[in-house]
Amino acid sequence: MRTERGFTRMTLEEFEGWLPAQQVTRTVLSVQQHHTFLPAYGHFTGSNHFTLQQNMKHHHVSANGWADIGQHFTSFPDGTIVTGRPLESNPACIFGNNQHAICIEHLGNFDAGRDVMTAAHRQAILRMTAAICERFAIPVTADRVVYHHWYDLATGVRTNGSGTTKSCPGTAFFGGNSVDQAQRNFLPKVRALLDGGTVIEAELPARGYVRVTADSLNVRRGARPGAPRLRAVTAGTVLRVYEEAGGWLRVSNAQDEWVSARFTAPVERATVRASSLNVRSAPDRTADKVAAITRGQEVFIHERANGWCRIGTEPRWVHGDFLVPA
Ligand SMILES: [Zn+2]
Repeated sequence: MRTERGFTRMTLEEFEGWLPAQQVTRTVLSVQQHHTFLPAYGHFTGSNHFTLQQNMKHHHVSANGWADIGQHFTSFPDGTIVTGRPLESNPACIFGNNQHAICIEHLGNFDAGRDVMTAAHRQAILRMTAAICERFAIPVTADRVVYHHWYDLATGVRTNGSGTTKSCPGTAFFGGNSVDQAQRNFLPKVRALLDGGTVIEAELPARGYVRVTADSLNVRRGARPGAPRLRAVTAGTVLRVYEEAGGWLRVSNAQDEWVSARFTAPVERATVRASSLNVRSAPDRTADKVAAITRGQEVFIHERANGWCRIGTEPRWVHGDFLVPA
C-alpha cells in the first residue's frame, strides 16, 4: 500500500482488507460502474497510476469545477486500485443520482472494439464490487449495482439506456452495458464471490434516519460534547440512527459513534410505487419537471408540504401519493 499526492494505491488483497475497516457514516445504498474512456489502456505505462489519477482530479476540479476528483476509486489494468474522493462525500459521477452512492471508475475504454480488459482488471472489478456490496450491505441487483448508461445525462432519469446516455462503462463491459446483459453476465459473477451468493445484512435495521442540518457535524466516540472526535459529516448527509440518549444519536450499529441530535432533523425512507414519478422543482403539479424516478427506487423525504415531498437537499419534489414507507 502506498500513498502519494493524496491518493492510496492498493493491491486487490490490500483493498479487501482495508475496506471493511473504513468507518463511513453517510447512508450508502448503491455502487456505480464507470469506465474512464480517457485515459484508456494506451495511457497506462504500468507505473503511472498516481499521475493518471492526479490528471483526472485536475480535470474534474479545473474543467468541471468540482470540489474534488469525482470517483471514490479507480481500478487499473494491472488489477490495482487507487483511492479518490473520501468515502464520506457523495461522488460526482451520475447526474442526479449521487447522494447515496459509491462510484468506481475502471480505467480504460470498454466500448466494443476498443480496450480488451486484462484478466487482472476483470478480477479486480468483480472482487472490488463484491467487497463494496458486502461492506455497505448493498444487494447485488440492477437496482443497486448500476451502470452510468442507464441514466439520461440531461435529466438524471433512469431510462435503462434509452434517451441521451453515455455508453459507460462500455458496450463490451462484461458482455454488454444493458440491464439485461448486466443481469445475465456481470451481477451473477459478483454474487458468486459473496458467501452464500447474497449479501449478509451487515447492518441492523436502523430505528430511523436523520439528515445533517449543520454545515459540518462531528461524529464522536461517546455521547457527550468533549468525546473524541472521529470525523465530520456535512449538511444534507443522511445518517442511520440506532439509539437515542440525552440529545445524542448513535449512528453506527457496531461502533460507539454519536452525533448531537441538535444539528439533525428526521427524514423518512420511502420507495417509489409508480412506474414513473415526475420530480418537480417546487411542490406544485405545474412546476418544472426536473427528473423522473422509477418504481422500486428508494428516496429519503427531507420535507413535506401540501402532500408533496422534497427528496434530498435540492429543490426536487414528488407527490407523496406515489411513495410508500421503505
Ligand atoms: Zn460514467
